[in-house]
Amino acid sequence: MVPPTDSLILSFEDARRVVEEHASQITPPPSEALDLLSAIDRILAEPIAADRDIPPFPRSTRDGYAVRSADLTNLPTQLKVVGEIKAGASEQIFLSYLNPGESFSIMTGAPLPGGADAVVMVEYTALQGRHVEIQKHVVKGENIVAQGAEAPIGSVLLTRGTRLNETAIALAASVGESRLEVFKKPRVAVLTTGDELVEVNAQPGPTQIRNSNSYSLASQIRQRGGEPALLPIAPDEPHRLRELIEQGLRSDLLLMTGGVSMGRYDLVEQVLAELKAEFFFTGAKIQPGRPVVFGRCGAVALDRKGRAPKYFFGLPGNPISTMVTFELFARPILEALAGLPPQPLTFLHARLKSEIQVKPGLRRFLPACLSGQYEGTQVELVPWQGSGDIAARSRSNCLVVIPPDRERIAAGEWIAVIPR
Ligand code: AMP
Ligand code: MG
Repeated sequence: MVPPTDSLILSFEDARRVVEEHASQITPPPSEALDLLSAIDRILAEPIAADRDIPPFPRSTRDGYAVRSADLTNLPTQLKVVGEIKAGASEQIFLSYLNPGESFSIMTGAPLPGGADAVVMVEYTALQGRHVEIQKHVVKGENIVAQGAEAPIGSVLLTRGTRLNETAIALAASVGESRLEVFKKPRVAVLTTGDELVEVNAQPGPTQIRNSNSYSLASQIRQRGGEPALLPIAPDEPHRLRELIEQGLRSDLLLMTGGVSMGRYDLVEQVLAELKAEFFFTGAKIQPGRPVVFGRCGAVALDRKGRAPKYFFGLPGNPISTMVTFELFARPILEALAGLPPQPLTFLHARLKSEIQVKPGLRRFLPACLSGQYEGTQVELVPWQGSGDIAARSRSNCLVVIPPDRERIAAGEWIAVIPR
């Protein structure tokens, strides 16, 4: 019944590649229409195109004087000021024309008159009655954005699958999209296992602890675009565990925590094997989070409605392992189910403040603290009691990534970091 384990323990890169391959094959969920404000942070389900040229007219980027650059060969020079153009000026402005020797006073965001090909910043001019003295040369095109230079009419500004962050929301607003088609959030079941666990509002007995993993996962699921559905705590007993796993498999994704290590009461894999689950890996050479399980359940019994097989993760029960393995492995699947195209895992780098020594063989993701400022930013491990130490993790603001072939990393070396 228990799946073969040794062969399914992968390097971090292989495990991540397996997850990314599956994520890339997931079809996006159905969509719904939301108003712009409700669509913040959601995933766009339709492409958004420019409804007109952006900018819609040649636009001044400065307060100053619209000129013909050819008039500025000998400086300083005097130009006649023939008018003023403000942002939002009447459309009559499109009939005006700048002749040689003339200029228009112009404001940031205002349309350029015909004949003008540059703007001189007001700082380099002196107004003298009906003339302006130009003191600085400008080249053709300087301080203006040509019509359609940012995006021509009809061009796609946002592709399907874009997360609607502040920039995307601004772009949508700028082209008049007051309602957006976004993907529906996938429902993610969270099932935590262990006889030692009690609910948050219960008083734990002397050997019991409160269930915190369901809550860290719910938080991570929300942040990554899913809707968490917390199941009751499963005991270390196969019948009830199976019932709850079957219930969880009705959601779009099932995340379990605990019960995936080598202990005698680690029953999750056994129950999943009974449900004819396919296992893609049952461990990764990482710390924390080594016993992480990834698979899919398409069991006939579970799929009466002919729905697609369901992915599941068995995340190790230690709280930091749960959080880290969610981020490294469950996140890409959740994001794909939410309609986001696969994203490579990128690391930032910081200088190490004090030496690190570890045993080689595992890729480690250790709680650390970024400190210092600007180019002086440094990173240092936070002392911890291992992967159960939530308090230490909360004192950290990043994870340092140590490759499996490194035993000692000296102070001052650049090291990979995952912020937060
Ligand atoms: P396990 O993976 O079931 O062997 O659990 C590993 C460690 O994580 C044990 O110390 C558990 O008590 C702890 N643990 C398991 N599940 C949770 C949970 N939901 N909340 C907090 N700690 C947990
Ligand atoms: Mg357990």
